Amino acid sequence: MNANGGFNHKSKVADIWINGRWGWPIQWMNRTPALTNIGPCNLWEEMQDKICWKVGDKIMDFSNSAVWQTTRTREEEVPWSESVWFSQCISKHAFLLWLIIRRKLLTQDKIIKWGHARRRGMNMMCCLLCYKDYDSHDHLFFSCYYSTQVWYHIRAYAEMENVQPICSDVSRR
Ligand SMILES: [Zn+2]
Repeated sequence: MNANGGFNHKSKVADIWINGRWGWPIQWMNRTPALTNIGPCNLWEEMQDKICWKVGDKIMDFSNSAVWQTTRTREEEVPWSESVWFSQCISKHAFLLWLIIRRKLLTQDKIIKWGHARRRGMNMMCCLLCYKDYDSHDHLFFSCYYSTQVWYHIRAYAEMENVQPICSDVSRR
């Protein structure tokens, strides 16, 4: 008998509920003793099997949404969330902005901190906008010469004419 205990994706609950008892394959019982704790099953011949999702005592129809809503970690909403996520936002841009604000882009300054084996070729890495330094969040968006010039051109549109290209100054606004 294979690891699936002779069952496949077309198997039904009725295939394992035999004469009023669970008929778990022995290798499943050895691997997951908690199977003995599963209570009796009420099968109605007219009902179709369906996949459910159980949270505590609550049983609901299975959906990716249900799994996501019940397994995700919820944190306090950040004050800048509506600046990133809004109904007309472009998902790709919003996701990138979210990564940037969280400082989660995989920038070269982070890669440098990895072990030597992963740093092969780092001598060749540098900011592709100015070729003068490793890139980092601060460098890419503010201290790079190219980015600084972009900031000086666009800051008026954001009514930030007097704000210098310094990350902490820009994010404070
Ligand atoms: Zn640069």
